[in-house]
Amino acid sequence: MPVRDPEVSIEKIDTLVVGAGQAGVTMSEHLSNNGIPHLVLERDRIAERWRTGRWDSLVANGPAWHDRFPGMEFSDIDPDAFASKDRVADYFVDYAKRIDAPIRCGVEVKSVERNVGGPGFRVETSEGLIEAVNVVAATGAFQHPVIPPVVPRNAPFTQIHSFDYRNPGQLPEGAVMVVGAGSSGAQIAEELMSSGRRVYLSVGPHDRPPRAYRGRDYCWWLGVLGKWDVAAMEPGKEHVTIAVSGANGGHTVDFRRFAAQGITLVGRTQKYEDGVLSFAPDLADNIAQGDAYYLSMLQEADAYAVRNCMDLPEEPEAHVIDPDPDCVTNPILELDLVEAGVASIIWATGYSRDYSWLKVDAFDEQGAPKHQRGVSFEPGIYFLGLPWQSRRGSTFIWGVWHDAKHVADHIATQHRYRQYRSPAERETEDA
Ligand SMILES: Cc1cc2nc3c(=O)[nH]c(=O)nc-3n(C[C@H](O)[C@H](O)[C@H](O)COP(=O)(O)OP(=O)(O)OC[C@H]3O[C@@H](n4cnc5c(N)ncnc54)[C@H](O)[C@@H]3O)c2cc1C
Repeated sequence: MPVRDPEVSIEKIDTLVVGAGQAGVTMSEHLSNNGIPHLVLERDRIAERWRTGRWDSLVANGPAWHDRFPGMEFSDIDPDAFASKDRVADYFVDYAKRIDAPIRCGVEVKSVERNVGGPGFRVETSEGLIEAVNVVAATGAFQHPVIPPVVPRNAPFTQIHSFDYRNPGQLPEGAVMVVGAGSSGAQIAEELMSSGRRVYLSVGPHDRPPRAYRGRDYCWWLGVLGKWDVAAMEPGKEHVTIAVSGANGGHTVDFRRFAAQGITLVGRTQKYEDGVLSFAPDLADNIAQGDAYYLSMLQEADAYAVRNCMDLPEEPEAHVIDPDPDCVTNPILELDLVEAGVASIIWATGYSRDYSWLKVDAFDEQGAPKHQRGVSFEPGIYFLGLPWQSRRGSTFIWGVWHDAKHVADHIATQHRYRQYRSPAERETEDA
């Protein structure tokens, strides 16, 4: 447990973990397993983002057997069902209790600086100073909702980020423009459409795996095909999002079906002028590339089943792609939002990092952490929950668990080096 220096009232700890989302919780588990004294500081509550930073109907994108840490199952959910966001938050609270994680909630880390004239770091928190030998930034990749500067804030529409979307009832009457068709945008557009709203959905480059194929969920397929473990993003795919949904029991995100159900698809949102939103002429391409990814996964899955002599039920209908809907063959390139009755715009356009509190030399010119599998180039500083930290699965629940283990092992190894004493030092100490 932390030690307080009575003279200067500075608490001292070996390793300080900042953030108690899934990353901070599992970091604590692995540090404990390595016998490293540590403290986790969380400015809100454990798994706050799952609790209050998501829309009401959100469920985990992966089934309960998959979207969890290896050491604990969801106790009260069918393993093939999708846990609600609150159930996921409860899971992390339960997990923290089970591992007896030393988490202090309601304490914000304001700044971390390297100690001058001594080892370690000086950490300023909302509740005083702490000195730590190591600091793990477990604040995740989803810090600030990003709304691209396309439509002025004073334009006559309600504009919110998907982070602030809760349910259809929160929006003013009228049509909704959803920008971004990753998992968030696709799920929100579908929910709005089901609630009777007229919906426009701006679709950029995306991958859309089948929800399930031949009786196995896509999480299983990505696992056995080694795709969660891919170490780096394919060049050119930096802006490709993944569109999956666990909503209503889970189904494949199929933008052709969306169109058939009444959602108007448009290409990537480009600019806004005099009430008119313009879209890139890339909708057909984006849909075709999403289909190509989908079909390639089916083929890889079939090949895997053959290779492993698996007798899985055939599913030929999954290979049938419907014809392009009218909104794809004759895409809208410009939309007068008022004329179209659009009252709200939801920006499902992702998040940015924020390490402004971490005042150390651990970042490149773009402000991205310089690290190897979470071990920073600045000794004693560690990162967790980064996209592609070690593999594709790194930001996900099961992926961060493995990254935390690697980071904790590194901290423990360094700890052992520091504890080493030469024979001469041992002799002096024993004397
Ligand atoms: C809409 C959405 C749906 C997702 N669905 C899934 C899913 O189904 N399955 C899956 O595996 N992954 C999913 N993810 C990805 C990922 O699992 C979540 O984003 C998860 O919340 C990331 O956990 P984290 O611990 O890295 O970061 P966060 O959950 O963001 O936790 C970071 C914590 O740090 C705290 N913090 C930040 N700054 C400070 C500070 N200065 N001092 C103290 N505390 C601080 C925050 O309050 C927060 O609690 C989803 C992501 C999003 C955005």
